Amino acid sequence: MFNNLSEKLDKAFHVLKGHGQITEINVAETLKEVRRALLDADVNFKIAKEFTNKVKEKALGQNVLTSLQPGQLMVKLVKDELTELMGGDAEGINLSGTPSIILMSGLQGSGKTTFSGKLANYLKTKKTKKPLLVACDVYRPAAIDQLHVVGDQIGVDVFSDRGNTDPVAIAEAGIAYAKANGHNVVIIDTAGRLAVDEEMMNEIANVHKAIKPQETLFVVDSMTGQDAVNTAKAFNDVLNFDGVILTKLDGDTRGGAAISIKSVVTKPIKFIGTGEKMDAIDVFHPSRMAERILGMGDVVSLVERAQEQFDEEEARKIQKKIAKNKFGFDDFLKQIQQIKKMGSLKDLMGMIPGAGKALKGMDIDDDAFKHVEAIIHSMTPAERETPTLLNASRKKRIASGSGRSVQEVNQLLKQFDQMSKMMKMMQGGGGKKMMQMMGG
Ligand code: GDP
Repeated sequence: MFNNLSEKLDKAFHVLKGHGQITEINVAETLKEVRRALLDADVNFKIAKEFTNKVKEKALGQNVLTSLQPGQLMVKLVKDELTELMGGDAEGINLSGTPSIILMSGLQGSGKTTFSGKLANYLKTKKTKKPLLVACDVYRPAAIDQLHVVGDQIGVDVFSDRGNTDPVAIAEAGIAYAKANGHNVVIIDTAGRLAVDEEMMNEIANVHKAIKPQETLFVVDSMTGQDAVNTAKAFNDVLNFDGVILTKLDGDTRGGAAISIKSVVTKPIKFIGTGEKMDAIDVFHPSRMAERILGMGDVVSLVERAQEQFDEEEARKIQKKIAKNKFGFDDFLKQIQQIKKMGSLKDLMGMIPGAGKALKGMDIDDDAFKHVEAIIHSMTPAERETPTLLNASRKKRIASGSGRSVQEVNQLLKQFDQMSKMMKMMQGGGGKKMMQMMGG
């Protein structure tokens, strides 16, 4: 996701990060690079220009030039501005109706049917709702079949009426069916065309008028770049929709759509689709997306969670030790205790960019630290302080003391070594490098 844009922005900031003394020329140069990166990512020219102008104003206002870490401050300003551009706080969907009616709109192939299923599944599992899916595509029988397949997969009822060619009538019958059968959310999947045309617009406008949905969502394929923005505008002119769904963000998208849509249609992006499977749906958080774009990933949320638990004094001590290469197994043990306090391991791993997906479905034992702790407890204080002391005979002793194998001891040493390196990298502002190591 957004790899190219992230890389280019990172390069743009490079100019500032390397300098001891920053000049106005450096800042201007950086912003020029930022603008170029945005344009390359398919962000509309006007938006990109306004964006860099705003960042520049703020940079001058906040005395970037004399700040201690101009590079970091600039990254923060860009992050804040990106967040603002993509919509500020995350916005939920309106589920106030009885039943709540959600109308899906968008071009054919945008991912409407897939997303209808994802949303039904999300509402069912996360919000304990009882949704009904309604197939209103009267042109493609295959589309009706597809919705039935999706419904079966997630265990959600699907209403369709194959002989009927009137989408308004089908939608109304679907809502009546929902009321009669205790469904409290109705998701209506409509027909799309390959391009915007008047007939399609009239049709969906009629459905919209007749059923008065609480929530009209516009689904758009993020891979279509600037076209996504134009299509959004066309649909918004007719439907005045409530929110945007960006699909296929898992692909090699340039990200321009995510960045531009909000400011063009002034409607929030509410969810994103990140894969073909039914659980590949995420609530859109503009600030987290900005962090991802800037290569910060959700490590930021992870750090936030850590800060809630971590003892600042202790953290400072550990930082010093890392810097001096004195981070030992006793510190490691302390960290483990603190991590344990932060919550379930699986939950935490999910916050590391890339790791969440890779670990999905894997069984992560929350007591995975048990053996590690046993091994460390079998080390002498000197060994804990200076892990390089651990030769073959010491390892053997530790293994038998902890009841684990020498292989496991070796594995822990290797992991410890990698972790120490990683922490050193993070301290040097190399968060991005660390993520690359993690495959993010
Ligand atoms: P519709 O014509 O708008 O109903 O679009 P579909 O739901 O049939 O989706 C079109 C294609 O895009 C299908 O092959 C889907 O599997 C695929 N698709 C939908 N959403 C996503 C997504 O978030 N990521 C990826 N990679 N593929 C998706």
